[in-house]
Amino acid sequence: MTKEEEIPDWVGAKEFYDKYEPKEILGRGVSSVVRRCVDKRTSQEYAVKIIDITPSDKMTPQEMQEIREATAKEIDILKKVCGQDNIIQLKDCFESKAFFFLVFDLMKKGELFDYLTEKVTLSEKETRKIMRALLEVVQFLHAQNIVHRDLKPENILLDDHTNIKLTDFGFAVQMQPGQKMKEVCGTPGYLAPEIIECSMDAGHTGYDTAVDIWSSGVIMYTLLAGSPPFWHRKQVLMLRMILSGKYDFSSPEWEDRSDTVKDLISRMLVVDPKQRYTVREVLNHSFFSQYVVDEVRQFTPYRRFKVICMTVLATMRIYCNYRRAKPVTKDVIKSDPYAVKPIRKLIDACAFKIYGHWVKKGQTQNRAALFENTPKAILLSIAAEADEPVQNIW
Ligand code: ADP
Ligand code: MG
Repeated sequence: MTKEEEIPDWVGAKEFYDKYEPKEILGRGVSSVVRRCVDKRTSQEYAVKIIDITPSDKMTPQEMQEIREATAKEIDILKKVCGQDNIIQLKDCFESKAFFFLVFDLMKKGELFDYLTEKVTLSEKETRKIMRALLEVVQFLHAQNIVHRDLKPENILLDDHTNIKLTDFGFAVQMQPGQKMKEVCGTPGYLAPEIIECSMDAGHTGYDTAVDIWSSGVIMYTLLAGSPPFWHRKQVLMLRMILSGKYDFSSPEWEDRSDTVKDLISRMLVVDPKQRYTVREVLNHSFFSQYVVDEVRQFTPYRRFKVICMTVLATMRIYCNYRRAKPVTKDVIKSDPYAVKPIRKLIDACAFKIYGHWVKKGQTQNRAALFENTPKAILLSIAAEADEPVQNIW
């Protein structure tokens, strides 16, 4: 008797439904749906990723087999990386002929992507906390020669205390030491140049773990600026920007950012992977050595006196600068409202409130369009994605 005859198709599915009760949808992928679910015995909440491999007109038997193999690989990697604090934990796993059920801890605060949409941009301090945790995960993966290949804010979830948990190991792969990959996968805006080169040149030598550093650089830039470094309505032009490493720090958001953080980003977004920082170099950069305070220091009376003097001097300086500052008049607001920081923040926040539901994820991210702040640009972007003339959208 073969294995397939021994185990009926539905056994894995029945085991899942006996143990858990599926609830509302939390997210969707190409061939998966993620739902909240509840353990019937303990009432504990989880998230279940249900991967559908039922035969259908849309999928050839070969595609079904590929999804099956890819899911088995995803489960294998998830088991290998379990235990790291900032990686999602696979709690349970069921397999039937038509479905896979992967049960994870529930991340109630959802994706970093949505958190950023709500906040518009993050401070350097918050970016440091998130990026340090993400890069420590990347270091942990790279030490085992595992490359994630799909790092992006949609695959970074937040727990109840806003700590990150990296998820979606669907494209992750463990390489042999010194091995190079050629398979083209990932999400366009986050693709490293060498992955795009592989798709254009069959003789390319391939890529390695450095692709995760590039994607981390894109994430870091996006957290601080609110919009991604490489973006164009036409995907082919966006890929060209990536290939030439063409991005800048010219948007108003960068005026308030330190040279340290810009320096680090520019060492991660390097087109040549050999010149790009490794994860160890990134974590050793001075951006990450700031604000590491282990304990509150007790000041001596002399030091306390010195701090008081410095505070008085600083207050006087702030007051003098304040008196010298140009007043924000009605004319300034009328002629160039975007130049006034609080108004700029208000405009951006309003744009995200009104058009936030159009901030698409994955393939055709148009977060950048919201920063153009012209209704025409937003309409053009939506029309391009819906493959519709602008008039129809209007
Ligand atoms: P795919 O491979 O289809 O992209 P993901 O594993 O990335 O699947 O999950 C898709 C989406 O489902 C995520 O982007 C997120 O919104 C949601 N999601 C996934 N896992 C969880 C979880 N453990 N808790 C809360 N939401 C989750
Ligand atoms: Mg995903």
